Amino acid sequence: MKIAKNTVVTVHYKLSDAQGNLIEESSEPMVYLHGGYANTLPKIEEALEGQEVGYDTMIQVEPDDAFGEYDPNLVKVEPRNRLPTPLEVGMQFEGSPEESDEGEETLIFTVTDIADDKVVLDGNHPLAGMALRFALNVAEVRTATEEEIAHEHVHGAHGHHHEDPDDEEGDHFRSHPIH
Ligand SMILES: [Zn+2]
Repeated sequence: MKIAKNTVVTVHYKLSDAQGNLIEESSEPMVYLHGGYANTLPKIEEALEGQEVGYDTMIQVEPDDAFGEYDPNLVKVEPRNRLPTPLEVGMQFEGSPEESDEGEETLIFTVTDIADDKVVLDGNHPLAGMALRFALNVAEVRTATEEEIAHEHVHGAHGHHHEDPDDEEGDHFRSHPIH
């Protein structure tokens, strides 16, 4: 089966920087819904479009097509007491940027500094500003279910799990599982 819109693609990946230094090697493959649902980078979809199981490729993606340029406006300072204890540099939280009551756009904030009663949170993706190389190897391609297409993401094994629907409640800093 060829990779096309509304197929679910399982792909092993190895991520390096533009100098070839390994950043991440997948222990579990990425599983995503193909077809412009923003489940993965558009450049990855472009590279895999029309390919089949066993396809191997290496692509380089510039920051603009990956996690963006580094944006100093995404750094914010919060009172220490708004965040859970214990707290250390490197911890990540899901939150919304200032003044966004739409509840749509959430960012992952990384704790980059802790002072007495203040915490610096950086909403830039850790890979912002970097050109990235992906080595990709397609392990599986299947047709998406109607439900997956309606939800615009993959269900099951490594896909999306529905839980905890009380997203919009109160404090918008929630602990985020890091993989
Ligand atoms: Zn769903």
